[in-house]
Amino acid sequence: MQIADRCVASFHYTLTNDKGEVLDSSSGREPLAYLHGAGNIVPGLEKAMSGRAMGDKFAVDVTPEEGYGVHDPNLVQVVPKSAFRGAGELRPGMQFRADSSRGPMSVVITAIRGEEVTVDGNHPLAGATLHFQIEVTEVRQASSEELTHGHVHGPGGHHH
Ligand code: ZN
Repeated sequence: MQIADRCVASFHYTLTNDKGEVLDSSSGREPLAYLHGAGNIVPGLEKAMSGRAMGDKFAVDVTPEEGYGVHDPNLVQVVPKSAFRGAGELRPGMQFRADSSRGPMSVVITAIRGEEVTVDGNHPLAGATLHFQIEVTEVRQASSEELTHGHVHGPGGHHH
């Protein structure tokens, strides 16, 4: 059975950056399961999964446009330190939930200069080319309930 729309595919993955550093991996965990054609995974990877079958191993490079998007400079803002009152000592790398014109978003502090704090609302992997090493471990038909929900139930998916 080949991966196509209305299929649930499970796979092991290792994600590395341009320097070959491992950013994420399913190694030592259960494989990740997703509903093909539902946008559960980044578009470039979903495209590369199409037509694969159980046991297939392959590598795929995903551009930022088909990954977590390009880095949007409009999502980088400088805010006064006073906006973080009660948050304790601020340092780069700290994450916060912030309200924006697009609704609640996750931002990370990237710089602190005096009373000015720079926050970045981009996805941490925005602008990055993603290098995936994939092993397909299972392909099956999605249940009608999974198709209605738009995600996978059971191992590697949603439990509810
Ligand atoms: Zn569900």
